[in-house]
Amino acid sequence: MLTTQDFRNFNQTLPILNYTMPVLFIGHGSPMNGIEYNEFSERWKKMATEIPIPTAVIVVSAHWYTKGTHITAMEYPETIHDFGGFPKELFAVHYPAPGSPFLAAEAASLVHSTSVHLAHDWGLDHGTWTVVRHMYPEAKIPVLQLSIDYTKAADYHYDLAKELSALRKKGVLIMGSGNMVHNLRLMSWDMIKIERGFDWANEMNTNFKNLIVNQEHKQLINYKSLGKEALMAIPTPEHYLPLIYSLGLQEKNDSISFFNDKAVGGSLTMTSVKIG
Ligand code: ZN
Repeated sequence: MLTTQDFRNFNQTLPILNYTMPVLFIGHGSPMNGIEYNEFSERWKKMATEIPIPTAVIVVSAHWYTKGTHITAMEYPETIHDFGGFPKELFAVHYPAPGSPFLAAEAASLVHSTSVHLAHDWGLDHGTWTVVRHMYPEAKIPVLQLSIDYTKAADYHYDLAKELSALRKKGVLIMGSGNMVHNLRLMSWDMIKIERGFDWANEMNTNFKNLIVNQEHKQLINYKSLGKEALMAIPTPEHYLPLIYSLGLQEKNDSISFFNDKAVGGSLTMTSVKIG
């Protein structure tokens, strides 16, 4: 069990740095990206060389959708294969990055809007490891996950993210991992390898990008008012809310850039954002 003294020690080991870590939103797409070396995963790998080496990584994964807010707090998080119907090779992946009970406790202590539970019953799900193993293949950097409370609306998540902003100054890379346009029901599975979006998906992808560039965060939080295309892009919010966390961490002078700005299978976009 973590003691107050442990926590003090942690504060001594993670000093405030003279730079601020960028924040990412990653469109993770198919779990197969975890073992494929394609343009998306190669871009994740390259991104890791373009930003400072983080002291730790915290991922808000679309695939950890819980009641209440939880953060992984074990020393060695397991690799979770939370999907079915994929090749054995994907189930064989083990990503052995350590966790950080200390950072989990510090992150929890920064949040005052709710009580963040230190979790020992989860690990790294595919929203995290399919991306992070390309970025940091040596698996030496601690990786944690923060869950998404499914009982809360988008503004809650936006505000909660802000409470974590101090970690950016301690070298912690915070990433939302989901997909802006994510409608599997309308997905054309024979088009999964084809980089094409349906008209409504392309339109919504452009709308999202414009709103992000113009810092129209209120409109992005109130996505249900963005029209019919938005409701098609976000039939359920779990893949969209990680973007809201990333935007919540944006500070005034942060620059914005996009990468992997492509649609696949008609109704899914891989569009990703670098903030700062
Ligand atoms: Zn997903």
